[in-house]
Amino acid sequence: MNPHTTSSGSRRRSAALKLVELRKQFGDIVAIDGVSLDVMAGEFVTLLGASGSGKSTTLMAVAGFIDATSGEVLINGEDQSRQPPHKRDIGLVFQHYALFPHLSVEKNVAFPLEMRRLPKAQIGERVRRALDLVRLGSLGARKPSELSGGQQQRVALARALVYEPSILLLDEPLGALDKSLREEMQWEIRRIQQALAITTVAVTHDQHEAITMSDRIAIMRNGRIEQIGTPADIYERPRTRYIAEFMGSSNFLRGKVEAGPDGGRLRVAPHTAVPLAPRAGALADGSMDLVIRPERVRCVPGPREGDGLAGAIAGVTYVGEAWQIDVKLDSGEMLTASHANHGELALAPGDRVAIDLGTHPWWAVPLES
Ligand code: ADP
Ligand code: MG
Repeated sequence: MNPHTTSSGSRRRSAALKLVELRKQFGDIVAIDGVSLDVMAGEFVTLLGASGSGKSTTLMAVAGFIDATSGEVLINGEDQSRQPPHKRDIGLVFQHYALFPHLSVEKNVAFPLEMRRLPKAQIGERVRRALDLVRLGSLGARKPSELSGGQQQRVALARALVYEPSILLLDEPLGALDKSLREEMQWEIRRIQQALAITTVAVTHDQHEAITMSDRIAIMRNGRIEQIGTPADIYERPRTRYIAEFMGSSNFLRGKVEAGPDGGRLRVAPHTAVPLAPRAGALADGSMDLVIRPERVRCVPGPREGDGLAGAIAGVTYVGEAWQIDVKLDSGEMLTASHANHGELALAPGDRVAIDLGTHPWWAVPLES
């Protein structure tokens, strides 16, 4: 149902959506502060950030519901500044479904096509295909009030896709759904997005949702993109401490950089220097914070003299799929480890443990003032 299902290499490499130094001020409030972004044809990019970081404003500027103070929005290379929302080649889904309550599912989905004055026969055919796509083929005669929240969001998605826009924008489309339905719909949206190869920009504040759905994630903070990359880039190689903290629980151990081949090392204790992952650009001498995800460390009972990092278990928490182990290091710092739950845990509060960091290189971030 979509002209963009061709997967030729040249299409993939061109930016279907390009934002250039986009800014938006509401009076004194700078909602977006110079956002530049290239979204490739067929790509799924998520704007992820805390509430108020400028995600929705960016999306509304792309859709044309907000006029940017400065900067450009280009769709397939064409400047959109003079295009009203309905002339932009965009489909939109919000958190609140905004379906017409008095119209049937079919009529809701047909609405954008009737606005565009398509011939009746074509409308019927396209509506049927769009409803099949979201697996609502049999519910076309129902009213929105006769559907569950997840089904209503599927109707909204069908309505956004039915006129085959080149870009799909999703602003927290699953925000009103409960957890299990949310996860089912994440998978469902991703399936449809890939089947159509439709260029998509989604907004969420949910890290897990962003990681599981996106080709790339742009982390927004204070109206700017602080980092953009694949989910693994963002999770494993955060540029800043803010991003490391935002993307999940993390320990930070402060240390001094010792330059060397590859990534050099970070000395975090008199007898402990941890190899650092190579990174683009030289590391400045001085201090950095080592980023240690709890699932990447092991607590080993009975540390010996010279074992490096060691401490005493301060607490053990059962969290279902894992045990969370809080260790008070001999330096006085606290460190949290997460051991996958394979049955009994042979560790208890008070036990002395060594912290096994393995031999693989670690990631570090600059100190944050
Ligand atoms: P997010 O979607 O990331 O939660 P928004 O883009 O909605 O953030 O908002 C970014 C900033 O702009 C916030 O400080 C918000 O209060 C402000 N803002 C958004 N819309 C308006 C508006 N219409 N008038 C004034 N301030 C606004
Ligand atoms: Mg928002």
